[in-house]
Amino acid sequence: MIKCEDCRAECCREVCVEMDPPETIEDWDIIRWMLAHENVAVYIDEEDAWLVEFKTKCRKLDDHNRCVIYKTRPKICSDHPVDDCVMNSKDPAEKLRFDSMDQVEKHIEEVIKPKLLKESQKQLEDLEKWKF
Ligand code: SF4
Ligand code: SF4
Repeated sequence: MIKCEDCRAECCREVCVEMDPPETIEDWDIIRWMLAHENVAVYIDEEDAWLVEFKTKCRKLDDHNRCVIYKTRPKICSDHPVDDCVMNSKDPAEKLRFDSMDQVEKHIEEVIKPKLLKESQKQLEDLEKWKF
């Protein structure tokens, strides 16, 4: 296991925020927009949560990878488990990950559009059953 003192504080170099899973083509277009920005990624974690990740160093991290507000650091930092962190977790970090607009566009073409088309065809078939 990597100890924090031997790490370049990877957990202090990103912000991850949970987001609603995309359901419509408009939702996927929002992800395209997110990924048009530098240092942004979107991924599904091992618990099926969707997260948007911003690669950005905390302003409170010094040049020696030490927290300058260690005693008063936010609870989310003090609660962060070292044995389950990005460096030490044994779970596969992500089930699906997009780092670029190209990657998400390929996924939309190959996976999402066929899935939505199949769903709309099914809805049409269901509607056909309603004869008046
Ligand atoms: S919790 Fe993990 S990622 Fe964060 S400094 Fe410690 S070893 Fe590095
Ligand atoms: S406040 Fe301190 S512990 Fe929290 S992310 Fe910033 S440098 Fe890391």
